[in-house]
Amino acid sequence: MGTRNIKMPAVFLDRDGTVIFDKNYLSSPKQVKLYSFAAQSISKLRAAGFKIIIVTNQSGISRGLFTEKDLEKINKRFISLLKAAGSRIDGLYYCPHIDSDDCCCRKPKIGMILQSVKDFNIDIAKSYTIGDSVRDYMLGFNMGGKGVLVLTGHGKEQKNEVVKQKIKPAAICKTLRQAANFVIKDAKKITITYLDN
Ligand SMILES: [Zn+2]
Repeated sequence: MGTRNIKMPAVFLDRDGTVIFDKNYLSSPKQVKLYSFAAQSISKLRAAGFKIIIVTNQSGISRGLFTEKDLEKINKRFISLLKAAGSRIDGLYYCPHIDSDDCCCRKPKIGMILQSVKDFNIDIAKSYTIGDSVRDYMLGFNMGGKGVLVLTGHGKEQKNEVVKQKIKPAAICKTLRQAANFVIKDAKKITITYLDN
């Protein structure tokens, strides 16, 4: 059996407010700016054996604020900036819809996760989401993995929303840097079951 049959855990990363600065419906490649810690945090997760998949809600498309072609240019810019900073991602998925479109991909729905499982050999139960919104950590919960909230982007406002939610994030971290460290440490935990007889 070759290594290609081995399922890999993934970290599903939100884009805006998590890896790049949030610009509220970012619509031009010129607006793409990586957080200083982004490339290093992604590389660290990759070195720890995680696939890195970007999953991003881009409702600006459905709202008519920019086109899928614009988004393609923005994502190309994002990937090239990441490359220039010495890192890379394995995949990128976006949802162009708004809530009323009732699609199956808008986070916290797991459509983008299900698609990535088809494209990559991912072990979802050992996977994580990291993002600056309740939607992001709920995505981690809904997929059957764990979700981490970061306090960059909308994270600080979203922290107040967490209080109202039944489901809480696996961790609340200042930035992607701390979130990456949490994920790497958490993934190493071994669950030992003692059978009493
Ligand atoms: Zn969608």
